[in-house]
Amino acid sequence: MSRAAKILLLLVFLGMPLLRTVAQEPQALPSADERYKVDILVVVAHPDDEGAATPYLARALDEHRRVAVVFGTRGSSGANEAGAEQAASLGAIREIEARNALTTLGITNAWFLDGKDTASQNVLLSLANWDHGESLEQLVRIVRLTRPEVILTFLPGTFIGEDHGDHQASGVLATEAFDLAGDPASFPEQVAGPTKRLEPLLENLRPWQPKKIYYFPDADREDIFRGKGPEYSVKEISKSSKQAYWRMALDSFRSHQTQAKSFLDKLAQMDEAQIEKMATFWTEALHFVLGKSLVGGSVTGDVFEGITPGAIPFARPEISPEPSRPELSVDLAGPYSFYADFRRAHGLTNLPHPEPPEIALQGHTTLVIPLWVRNRTGKTQEISLAASLPAGWTVQSGTGKFTVAPKQVAATRIEVLLPAVPENETKKPEPQEATVRAESNGQSIGEIKLRVELRKRALPQ
Ligand SMILES: [Zn+2]
Repeated sequence: MSRAAKILLLLVFLGMPLLRTVAQEPQALPSADERYKVDILVVVAHPDDEGAATPYLARALDEHRRVAVVFGTRGSSGANEAGAEQAASLGAIREIEARNALTTLGITNAWFLDGKDTASQNVLLSLANWDHGESLEQLVRIVRLTRPEVILTFLPGTFIGEDHGDHQASGVLATEAFDLAGDPASFPEQVAGPTKRLEPLLENLRPWQPKKIYYFPDADREDIFRGKGPEYSVKEISKSSKQAYWRMALDSFRSHQTQAKSFLDKLAQMDEAQIEKMATFWTEALHFVLGKSLVGGSVTGDVFEGITPGAIPFARPEISPEPSRPELSVDLAGPYSFYADFRRAHGLTNLPHPEPPEIALQGHTTLVIPLWVRNRTGKTQEISLAASLPAGWTVQSGTGKFTVAPKQVAATRIEVLLPAVPENETKKPEPQEATVRAESNGQSIGEIKLRVELRKRALPQ
């Protein structure tokens, strides 16, 4: 500190008792930190998942939109093509790869939740391994800090595709944060003003209601998402870089050496025309699905249609009632019943989902069909379960007769051993149907279908 500054400080200190006795002019309180305000908050699961949106993000940055990205995990259980590092060390590397990828596009603000990379298709396993409540608290904090107009995330649902449980979990958390961040009664310690100077616990954020949420699906087939949101060509040329958006996305992706070194090495050997052909793995256009808009606008209109600057009031989602069920009923449980509850709880009853439900599984693994059996009658009921399966599929357990006590909701599961898929199989796999029939006293009480596609490789169920 300079001598002049010290004297100034001394004068201020000596003057303080005097100042206290003088009436103060009203002073403007500090407002939220503008440096962290964004237009788009992207919420994904792993470093490199941002690639699902980078051709659009490059366009949004051209239009002077501010963008920040939240990663649910550091991707520590993925493969490493670039070196020997694994587990937490790989996570440390992938965090830097993600930051570098984003910086290439011009995005500098990225946050990482402390979720653990969970290799399965079951969103419930991922949510458990991410410490769901803690991750949600962190994400609500980031939404209140960044005040996004739009949240862009994975579609919460289960489909034939990579169908990564972590991808789904990021979409679940982002939807929950969309509905909670504007509620002053949710995580109120975040929106409490400081009680005294240097108060280390209360955060002095304000509630913030984002205006729209859009999803991108982690599914192979896109037909059920067509017309459910806007689409953006990846071939258009950026005004700022004079390059196609797919090219900017690819240049950003080059940071992910641990995930794609062999692919990137191959690219380095190609000329421009070959690269353009190869880059069609990013398809012609990005398709988004509108989750909800609190500011109107059309379903397939631009992401920012209907959005004007400034805060909007908190909107509590409309909860749809549970469907009425007969006194004795059987339903698919696990992630399938979770998503039915989730869509009702968050006003997402129009969100596309496959009917019958579907999944892709690796050959020679076990298909688990989780079930809820509900007995609302006043007496014990005998239930029998039978499965109709494609040739070569065999029930391991779970069929036959059992009883359910009065007023009980019982959980059960049928396990089916799937046939192997030969390594030299070249036929494109087609989904096949498994059907479970439930009866009581000779009467049908439910029929459940699940479409299953057998593959050489797939994440566990
Ligand atoms: Zn991922």
